[in-house]
Amino acid sequence: MPRMSRRPSDFIDGSRLWDRHMALARFGARDDGGVDRPALSGVEADARAQIVAWGRELGLRPFTDAVANLFLRYEGRDPSLAPILVGSHIDSQPTGGKFDGVFGVLAALEAVQAIIARGERPLRSIEVVAWTNEEGSRFAPGMTGSEVFTGKRSAQELFQIRDAKGITVQQAAEAVLSRDIDIPQRALGFPIAAFLEAHIEQGPVLEKAGIPIGVVSGIQGTRRYRVRVAGEAAHAGTALRAERKDALMAAVRMISAIDRAALEPADTMLTVGLLTVSPNAPSVVPAEAFFSIDLRHPQDEIVDRVDSEIRRITEVEKGSCEVELIQIAHARSLTFASEVRAAITRAAQGIGIPSMDIYSAAGHDARQLHYWCPTGMIFIPCHEGISHSPKEWVEPEHITAGARVLVDTAWDLATSKPPR
Ligand SMILES: [Zn+2]
Repeated sequence: MPRMSRRPSDFIDGSRLWDRHMALARFGARDDGGVDRPALSGVEADARAQIVAWGRELGLRPFTDAVANLFLRYEGRDPSLAPILVGSHIDSQPTGGKFDGVFGVLAALEAVQAIIARGERPLRSIEVVAWTNEEGSRFAPGMTGSEVFTGKRSAQELFQIRDAKGITVQQAAEAVLSRDIDIPQRALGFPIAAFLEAHIEQGPVLEKAGIPIGVVSGIQGTRRYRVRVAGEAAHAGTALRAERKDALMAAVRMISAIDRAALEPADTMLTVGLLTVSPNAPSVVPAEAFFSIDLRHPQDEIVDRVDSEIRRITEVEKGSCEVELIQIAHARSLTFASEVRAAITRAAQGIGIPSMDIYSAAGHDARQLHYWCPTGMIFIPCHEGISHSPKEWVEPEHITAGARVLVDTAWDLATSKPPR
């Protein structure tokens, strides 16, 4: 009888992978079941050491770099070829869960373990990666490990960013790196054949559709703004309404009109999450209102249209006040490499796991890597789309399915013929 050759996905051990999630969640565990693991903190260094230990048990060689990105290398048959990188991040928001980021790193480790168990070496080396400071909650902004690696930001610039206590990234990174024993530092920005990031969806689409695998087509475009409306403080009882420069009333008119301008199409994401008023006293006409705008959509044309509406509306609705609109971030929408998306879809089909194309609503390290090498992402469902919360939850069967699709995709990419 002809023997069917077994795929790497046949060697994925779902319960081992689940147990590692629970083990890693102890580093920075919160009383409510969540995780608080700031980038470059002591608890993150502990979690990092645990991952290095797991990697060493498999014979993987750890490497790091100037910003403490962590790599675990499984050597391919031709070590001179650019490696496939697979991973995500292990830092969390202060009210984080057990799966955001961690799933991508542990699924990558499980993938390499499955490939080793199967017994055939890939052509290219495969490296598990944990990028430094994806979340940006301790050191803002986020995605800086991958940003510095890909040369979009210099390490010197990153090093100067401080946390709320005044500690710089450089000091925190040095503290983490000083704990590394026998982990060589490599240069930033080496050639990569492809990058794969598995991640929880952080949205409700897959769960609602009952589909365990999302083949991420791209990341939606974003613009973020800060708006300062300057009026004049006055007595709430004596200043005539018509003569007031009421900064809050002007801001409210702006926010309301901007909200209406972003109603269509229905998947336009528009959020005003920050609003401060000063002097913020009940009997004083507000002298200043300050608010944020967060705008996102998969199509740049939509983002750009709402952007011009925001600029028009803030001028029209300011009335007798002054307005200052500053765009603090602008990221174009992006579409991941078709060959990587096709490889993910093929891998899911090959093992009979249903998949669908899906857009990423949130940013990921894959955004930075997209400009460096062919890149793709695999999403799995999370309960009610909740993340950045102790309530974040993922079904064990989806963790397993994600790792199975990840390993077959990684194997496919790592055995495809050069040049790439
Ligand atoms: Zn994440």
